[in-house]
Amino acid sequence: MDARLHPTSVLGINLGEAHIIRNAGGRAQDALRSIIISQRLLGTREILIIHHTDCGMLTFNDFELRLKLNKETNEIVDHLSFLPFDDLRQSIIDDIKILQSNPLILDVPITGYIYNVKNGSIEKVE
Ligand SMILES: [Zn+2]
Repeated sequence: MDARLHPTSVLGINLGEAHIIRNAGGRAQDALRSIIISQRLLGTREILIIHHTDCGMLTFNDFELRLKLNKETNEIVDHLSFLPFDDLRQSIIDDIKILQSNPLILDVPITGYIYNVKNGSIEKVE
């Protein structure tokens, strides 16, 4: 979701070559619906997960955001997880595992990367 990351430029891909699913934190769980459609109906056979440095998801937790929403809207949103994380590298490893263990996701190459918003570099997470 971050405006400092433009996946087509970062990865050198052209229009029509990839499905790009964006959300806050680049979380796999939040992208499941789109990934399933991409694989099962449109033939995608590889998944790259890209999170980035200086991510806003590192700056809050579910409790704080639920409290803020409750104060601002009077709604109770305890059933919602906003999927924040406190370890960037681990968040990617976790997302890879979530996809690999989901029976609805095809057994395809799934790799994870950290995009550095300061210098534009991209590092594979092993
Ligand atoms: Zn982010």
